[in-house]
Amino acid sequence: MDARRRTYLAEMGIEVWERRGMTAPQADTPTGDVVGAAAMRQRTDEACEDPGNKVARNTDNHDHARRVAAMNWDELALTVKGCTRCALHATRTQTVFGVGNREAEWLVIGEAPGAEEDRQGEPFVGRAGQLLNSMLLAIGLRREEVYIANILKCRPPNNRDPKPEEEQACRDYLERQIRLIRPKIILAVGRIAAQNLMKVDTPIGKMRGRTYSYQDTGIPVVITYHPAYQLRSPLEKRKAWQDLLYARRVFAGLA
Ligand code: SF4
Repeated sequence: MDARRRTYLAEMGIEVWERRGMTAPQADTPTGDVVGAAAMRQRTDEACEDPGNKVARNTDNHDHARRVAAMNWDELALTVKGCTRCALHATRTQTVFGVGNREAEWLVIGEAPGAEEDRQGEPFVGRAGQLLNSMLLAIGLRREEVYIANILKCRPPNNRDPKPEEEQACRDYLERQIRLIRPKIILAVGRIAAQNLMKVDTPIGKMRGRTYSYQDTGIPVVITYHPAYQLRSPLEKRKAWQDLLYARRVFAGLA
């Protein structure tokens, strides 16, 4: 193992044991099976909604999706900047669109902006961002090489979980980002990102170590823990490191 990676692993709090003569850390081998997207979660609130309202809302959502699906980067960024499609627009300082290489091979998707991201307008800054940078560097990726985005572009107050209607309202933007970037692999960090992307309710612990496929694109999706969670639960960092090694193997296998 080279010194640089050892340094970054130390930052992640991971103590690496190497057998004599070995050049790479041994991670548990994930199952590697491919899992297709599961069925949509049932929304009981939708079932109770007035039929007239539901038709109008579906039409509006459909029109919005169609418009966003035809946007270029500039149009998309401008639309997100002025978006008022959900209540989060009222409490945000600014939208957090995404950052990085728009032709990246790796796309990192998180949950939603926190307080610092809301202030700076950039995803994954602060301590969680530094840990993410270290995680990426540990597998040979600089932050500028990848693209980083969130499920939601506005901060939920008090860092609460996104609500289903907020995820639904914001979905078209991330969908368009993914199709514009056309990454070779998606790394979903955290439960919210993983479940939202794959439209499942599966606990994140059961999603790790598998390769999912993003909608009809065939882009592989690998799941790991959110850096903020790792900071709160340092013992999980080792599992996150295994996930990164797994993602790197999936990426290498694409070639
Ligand atoms: Fe619009 Fe998304 Fe912000 Fe809601 S979270 S206001 S849908 S950009």
